[in-house]
Amino acid sequence: MKDDVIYQAAFQCTKSFEPLLSDPKIIEDSARFKVWVGNVGASRIGVNSLDFKLRDSSHIKNRILSLLDDLHECLNNADAIIKGERKPWDQCLEDSQVDDNEDEYIDALAKDSSNTSGFGTELDQIRADVAEIVNCLYQLSTTTQAPAPHDQYMIAHHLVIEDAYIRLDISAIMVYELRETSLALATRLAEANARRRRYWTFRQTRNNHKKDYPQFQLAAQEDDPEISSAIPLPESRKINTLDIPVPPPQSEDGTLECPYCFTVIFISTPQTWREHIYSDLRPYICLEESCRSAGQHYLTQNQWMEHVLQHHWRNWRCVFCPSATSFESSLDLRRHLESRHEDSVSNSSQVDILVQSGKQAKKLDTCTACPLCAETLQDAGVYRQHVGRHQEQVALLVFKDIKK
Ligand SMILES: [Zn+2]
Ligand SMILES: [Zn+2]
Ligand SMILES: [Zn+2]
Ligand SMILES: [Zn+2]
Repeated sequence: MKDDVIYQAAFQCTKSFEPLLSDPKIIEDSARFKVWVGNVGASRIGVNSLDFKLRDSSHIKNRILSLLDDLHECLNNADAIIKGERKPWDQCLEDSQVDDNEDEYIDALAKDSSNTSGFGTELDQIRADVAEIVNCLYQLSTTTQAPAPHDQYMIAHHLVIEDAYIRLDISAIMVYELRETSLALATRLAEANARRRRYWTFRQTRNNHKKDYPQFQLAAQEDDPEISSAIPLPESRKINTLDIPVPPPQSEDGTLECPYCFTVIFISTPQTWREHIYSDLRPYICLEESCRSAGQHYLTQNQWMEHVLQHHWRNWRCVFCPSATSFESSLDLRRHLESRHEDSVSNSSQVDILVQSGKQAKKLDTCTACPLCAETLQDAGVYRQHVGRHQEQVALLVFKDIKK
């Protein structure tokens, strides 16, 4: 990667778009990609080139190279699927002779293809990935003097969070629809919202020299600081009824400047705006109480769920009663061993070993309780959709705090 140059990678991508230009969605992204290449000088060599502009910003250059690499791979995969050289996972599923974990996972995610954020086929998924990569390239091109968006999230993350709205969000989460949420989880969700506000404040500070744009301000900066101690909870903060804000008017070429992150984006359908808003919010975080990366934001339900399945989709089984139902947590198994099998376990270190060895990957079709509202969710796919929707709603609370 170190020795790579952007103009070669950009040229490769332009080439890889060519065999796919019978697909209307790809045509659109190909056009946007070409505009990006032209605007930033990605295909140029010399002092006007993007390679030259980024000669001292290796982290941005590497990010762009890695995006171009991903784009190239996505396009090649799409080409191989269309040519019949590679079987997409949706067809592997139809053959239904698969039962290893990975295919079960795909199955669970594919089940709800009616969901707007679900993907019916691998090609659909690739189309969405291509669009997302091109969006990222656009975002990076407006911030070449600043850290990449992800870094800004991390900077925001490290700021001391003393936000009156944390308490307001905790109340909104616990008082309304999600009353089964523990205080620890509600706080985690509220802190994620604090990071979202800080991110926008950060973006706003960077852009406040642009006088002709609407100045958005966090209401918390204007209101009485006492708001945090006595909170009248407005009905408008009711989770389950929140929606994304309407987009500002587009210019003739279909672009607009997002009034929250100030990125210039290309909007082809209302769905593109929705996707952009959710990419600003990064709505998904891990809700496992013991998670070591609890502050990590995920851009998509799939990325978040992948983390959940990889690290937390587990249950515990008792060696003495193999036919018994499994336990949701290590603590439940420990209690069971101590109360039911007193005679068989002699000391606590033996219990530790039995708890440790009782841990197993949970089947994808195992019923699991929603950690926020306690509803029983029948499998991993339903869990993703249901808990994902709660998280989107919580993230949308952020808009309640922005004043024009
Ligand atoms: Zn935005
Ligand atoms: Zn986790
Ligand atoms: Zn037992
Ligand atoms: Zn729920």
